[in-house]
Formats: sequence, C-alpha cells, structure tokens
Amino acid sequence: MTNFDYTRADGVTNAVSERASEHTAKFIAGGTNLIDLMKENVERPTRLIDINRLPLATIAETEGGGLRLGALMTNADTAYDKQVSKRYPLLSQAILAGASAQLRNMATDGGNLMQRTRCYYFYDVATPCNKREPGSGCSALVGFNRIHAILGTEAPDRSIHCIATHPSDMCVALAALEAVVRVTGSYGERTIPFAEFHRLPGNTPHIDNTLQDDELITAIDLPANGFSKNYSYLKLRDRTSYAFALVSVAAALELEDGRIKDARIALGGVSHKPWRRPEVEATLAGKIPSKAEFQSVADALLEGAQGFGHNTFKIELAKRAIVRALSQAAKLKPAS
Ligand SMILES: Cc1cc2nc3c(=O)[nH]c(=O)nc-3n(C[C@H](O)[C@H](O)[C@H](O)COP(=O)(O)OP(=O)(O)OC[C@H]3O[C@@H](n4cnc5c(N)ncnc54)[C@H](O)[C@@H]3O)c2cc1C
Ligand code: SF4
Repeated sequence: MTNFDYTRADGVTNAVSERASEHTAKFIAGGTNLIDLMKENVERPTRLIDINRLPLATIAETEGGGLRLGALMTNADTAYDKQVSKRYPLLSQAILAGASAQLRNMATDGGNLMQRTRCYYFYDVATPCNKREPGSGCSALVGFNRIHAILGTEAPDRSIHCIATHPSDMCVALAALEAVVRVTGSYGERTIPFAEFHRLPGNTPHIDNTLQDDELITAIDLPANGFSKNYSYLKLRDRTSYAFALVSVAAALELEDGRIKDARIALGGVSHKPWRRPEVEATLAGKIPSKAEFQSVADALLEGAQGFGHNTFKIELAKRAIVRALSQAAKLKPAS
C-alpha cells in the first residue's frame, strides 16, 4: 500500500469540491472493496475522502411513490428495511445473496455500485490487464477464464479488450427494477437511469461506469413498482455462501388474469454490466407462463453469447437459470 492523505468530509458540496481539486483522490465509504485494492496496489489514491459523516444513510418515500435509498445505507440495513423487504423483496433477496453478514454490515449501497471486477488478473499487478493498465493486454483472454463474461465483450470493431464481469448481486436486481442513480458533481445534480450507469468494455475497459471523477452517488431511487408478488433472484455459484455469482438472474413478472403483463429479466456474472434486453422481455407480454415460453426467451437472451474456453459452460448454465428463475417467479416451481 502506498502512502495517502485522509480527510473526513462534513458535507456533500465539500466532499465533491475536494474530489474535484485532487483528481487522484477517492471517496471511501465502507472500505470493503477499496482497501483490498489498495493493499494489492491496484488502487493508489493520493487522498481518501471519508464520506461516512454525510447525511446519506436514510430511506425515504419519493414523490413518484417509490423509495429513495441513501448512498450510505449499509447493504444489511437496506435488505432488512421493512419497506424494502415488503415492497422490493427481489432487491432484499439479491443483497442477502451477496458477500457475508459482516461485509454487508459495512458495505454501502453507493459503494456496491462502484465495486470493481473480481477478475484474478486485475488483482495481480504482475500480469497484463487492460482494465488496470490500459494497453497492456488481457491475461484472461488466453488464461483461466472460468468466471469471465460471455456477452457484450466485443468492441464495435469486433476486437476484444476485456472479458471481466461486474460482480454485484444488488446491481442485478436494481437493473431489473429500473432504478435511477442520483449523483452530485461540481456542476450540480443529475440522475442516471440504471441501464446507463455501468458500461460495456468496448475499447476503454478501464472505465467501469458513466460516473464522472468528481461525482458522488447520493442516492438510488426505486420506482413505485417493486414486482413484490412474482419475483426470484437465483444465484449460481461454486459455494452456497461467501462466493460471487457464476451466473445470476433477477426475474420479475407482473401477472394479470393468468397472463404476463410485464416481465423483467436481468443477468449477473455474464457481462461487464448487468445484462438486459428489454425487447426480448417484451415478447412475454400477453403469454401464459410456461416452461416453453421461458425457454425461448432464455435462448433469445443468450443470442450472440461467446465462450472463451473455461467459461463456455456459462452459456447453457445461464439459459437453465433463466428458465428456473422465471418459473419460480411465476410460481410454477418452488423457490430454491
Ligand atoms: C470477501 C468478499 C466477498 C464479497 N462477495 C460479494 C457478493 O457475493 N456479491 C456482491 O454483490 N458483492 C460482494 N462483495 C463486494 C461488496 O458488496 C462490496 O465490496 C461493497 O458493496 C462495496 O461497498 P463499500 O461501501 O465497502 O465501498 P468502498 O470499498 O468504500 O468503495 C468502493 C468504491 O466505491 C467508491 N464509492 C463508494 N461510495 C461512493 C459514493 N457514494 N459515490 C461515489 N463513489 C463511491 C469508492 O471511491 C471506491 O472506488 C464482496 C466483498 C468481499 C470483500
Ligand atoms: S478480463 Fe479485463 S480485468 Fe481481467 S485481465 Fe482481462 S482486461 Fe484485465
């Protein structure tokens, strides 16, 4: 770990202006990802701006009938909040599928969105990695890539620079729920629809998301519809706890008179960002839930998927997980 200065911010404006004046500084919230990366010399901030005293650890109703999660709410307090668990059980389930109880007590909602990939080569500074050091190459492409991406890996010119996945469980549920990220920068405030927050690697895999350097996440807005009746978060992993997803599925259905009115399906562990294709989800509208319908949606969602050897099994695994998660959401199958 290299030396750094430490400041404790006492207001959002003051945190943002400090960050804007020192572009190699970083915000620190729970520290559960950043400190690990600093210990491995992957992140080397010159200053840590501690944001834990900012008044962002609240949950409030929004004017649109949804909920606003303050960026400094811990993952545990969010998952167990009465309103969240009742109205957005998909989100509670996804958060509780992640990390461990101790980590969830420290990890914040803002930090969860910003956590970096778990690609082993990214953590190993002795290996080439385009995300850590742009232009150095991608060790995973030719190396052990069992946990890596199968969708959205190609840049527009069909070259491939990074096959890392976004590791968060919470973000997969937030993608399905179509949450909105609220941020403040030196210019003022703006909102970012969840689908536009994380990005595909393209030619610039070192950039994980569309947040500007001096912007602070202040809150995450959940829309009024939480799909609280028919939902499932299915996480497939090597161990049943304390492991990142190989593949995960957030499935949410709205049913009316036995037919599907609205469907949302977001995938984790398969791409650089939570993966959605709303045009494929829309094909379920008006259909009676059945395994055959879910199978054809699963095939369409995985169209164009590409394996790199060790991770090719994920293509079939993802299809089966989608069918299972949708079946659970439609209550064709008991939850597991
Ligand atoms: C052993 C282990 C297992 C884990 N397993 C899982 C898992 O299965 N599923 C899962 O989803 N996660 C898992 N995690 C990741 C964990 O959820 C994240 O580390 C955590 O959510 C990050 O939040 P934090 O508050 O600690 O962020 P920090 O470590 O404090 O910060 C992370 C990044 O976010 C930035 N940041 C923090 N807050 C803000 C803000 N408000 N605005 C702008 N930038 C900000 C920081 O500058 C930093 O770059 C695991 C972590 C560990 C260590
Ligand atoms: S997959 Fe991405 S993060 Fe992993 S080695 Fe390749 S460039 Fe680096």
